[in-house]
Amino acid sequence: MTKEEILKTCFGYDTFRGGQEPVINALLSGRDAMAVMPTGAGKSICYQVPALMLPGITLVISPLVSLMRDQVTALVQMGIPAAFLNSTLTFRQYLLALDRAKAGRYKIIYVAPERLETEGFLSFAEQAEISLIAVDEAHCISQWGQDFRPSYLNIPAFVKRLKKRPPVGAFTATATPDVKADIETLLELERPVQVATGFDRENLFFAVRKPKNKREAVVELIRSRPDQCGIVYCATRRAVEEICGLLQEAGISAARYHAGLEPEERQRNQEEFLFDRVQVMVATNAFGMGIDKSNVRYVIHYNMPKDMESYYQEAGRAGRDGLPASCILLYSGQDVQTARFLIEHSEPREELDARTAEQLRERDFQRLRQMVRYCTTRRCLRQTILRYFGEQAPDHCGACWNCLHNFEEVDVSREARCILRCVMETGGHFGIGVIAETLCGADTDKVRKYHMDREDTYGLLRQHTQEEVRACIRFLLEEEALTLSAGQYPVVRPGERAEAFLKRTTPLVMYMEKEEIPAARRRSAVPEVLEGTAAERFARLRELRAGEARRQGVPAYVVFSDKTLRELAVVCPKTLEEFREVSGVGNGKARRYGTLFLQAMDAFRD
Ligand code: ADP
Ligand code: ZN
Repeated sequence: MTKEEILKTCFGYDTFRGGQEPVINALLSGRDAMAVMPTGAGKSICYQVPALMLPGITLVISPLVSLMRDQVTALVQMGIPAAFLNSTLTFRQYLLALDRAKAGRYKIIYVAPERLETEGFLSFAEQAEISLIAVDEAHCISQWGQDFRPSYLNIPAFVKRLKKRPPVGAFTATATPDVKADIETLLELERPVQVATGFDRENLFFAVRKPKNKREAVVELIRSRPDQCGIVYCATRRAVEEICGLLQEAGISAARYHAGLEPEERQRNQEEFLFDRVQVMVATNAFGMGIDKSNVRYVIHYNMPKDMESYYQEAGRAGRDGLPASCILLYSGQDVQTARFLIEHSEPREELDARTAEQLRERDFQRLRQMVRYCTTRRCLRQTILRYFGEQAPDHCGACWNCLHNFEEVDVSREARCILRCVMETGGHFGIGVIAETLCGADTDKVRKYHMDREDTYGLLRQHTQEEVRACIRFLLEEEALTLSAGQYPVVRPGERAEAFLKRTTPLVMYMEKEEIPAARRRSAVPEVLEGTAAERFARLRELRAGEARRQGVPAYVVFSDKTLRELAVVCPKTLEEFREVSGVGNGKARRYGTLFLQAMDAFRD
């Protein structure tokens, strides 16, 4: 079979996505490959298709235990013999799987990197015919990344012990040059074919919001998306607890996930979410690595992540099925303070000398500044992301908040000078509220208590509302002309760039939001919401899928993705042939589910 036929008959897809073909071709021709593709781009297909075409076994080295299980389950569903070898198996199960592997029962074997060094596995590998090695999450080999796994460094030694060196494919979503260079050298790739696909994810809608009250905003955002699955990322465990409680009080079905929970609870909550039994997962960034849930409809960041890499990876967990999904970041100036604090107080890693540690810290600050820029820019958000990853992009995508909203330019040069003066002259002892009250000439308890009405700057911005002045203060915080102290009662102080702001001669422009641009200008990349009978059918098919998933004890999306169900609801195939035409239905699944789903289709037509 050709690779196109495999794609169709086994996986049920009509065409390869960008980047998949060149990687597959390289591996099939015996060359090494290095693929940098964003989360959700479809890296697995790049090694699964060659695996089915090559004579021997494909080993997939992956650090993600939960992902392995899901991937193997998904492959078995398609009728592809696959297994995984990792620490979740009992020793007996492990030996059994190894015996079967020796007997040539599997085409694809997922293995944790630590296994490669064990005698039992080595003796199997040395004798087996291994046609391909795929290294998933290849950035784990680099010390520069967050996910460094020392055992990845042993992969080349393992490869050398094989009878014949098979082609090695390295896969990652991390695109920074340091990490890419590390992967190539440390994995000892031989003249790899390099493939990097566009980082754009067309179906994702991006927004950065600055709500006055984040707690209300997050509840509101989720309430307006009933029956949709989503993830809410928080910066700390405490925030996870708080927000999860808040959502539950609001009657939203939510579960929590962070490293402070017992492993059993983490596992249980994760499964509840994977199996669509809870709607929202509230989590720290500990959640998500290796979660291949395709129908996540939104990812909300309750706090700003520390850099764009983290943000795009986490946000990218939305809409992996290709249907529209939203990535919403709730930003506040306080997030910047917290992130700075964390960098300043981060423990340097032991193995690093002082100079390297300092360089790393400086780089972290640099990344943080880029992240803040994303949060505060009025330019197209998609363009901002893509440029960050070194790609060209048009000025206007039409599918992000900034493209859909009008902003008015306001010259705030005078306001900024007044605010800075007020902060400096009052010694940096007051919070945002008091400063705004003073400048607006308000007569409040605090103004009287601290004698602010005797200040020269009292009432200087009388013509503005306090909210306007507060907005301007927040803007100056973002621009680092002011900073907020840490602690329960943060006070405003001159920031690093205060002097520069006082000296500037060009007008200082702040953007204020105007009314929303009509929805008609939004581009529609993928089918719109289903209506009428199609919507009813879709609901009915979801029930059918849920029943089937329960029966087999697998997550629903392993049976069929939402995308497939939607298409089924619209197309309503009559025969097995037509059924197989639907995206996501291969021969394996057609055999497995054909009768059941075709019966349902018949019932629709009655
Ligand atoms: P990654 O590992 O790059 O994050 P996956 O391999 O998990 O992404 O693929 C993401 C989703 O895209 C999966 O649901 C997968 O089945 C789907 N997919 C991959 N390749 C194709 C294709 N050529 N056509 C349609 N869907 C695809
Ligand atoms: Zn845009």
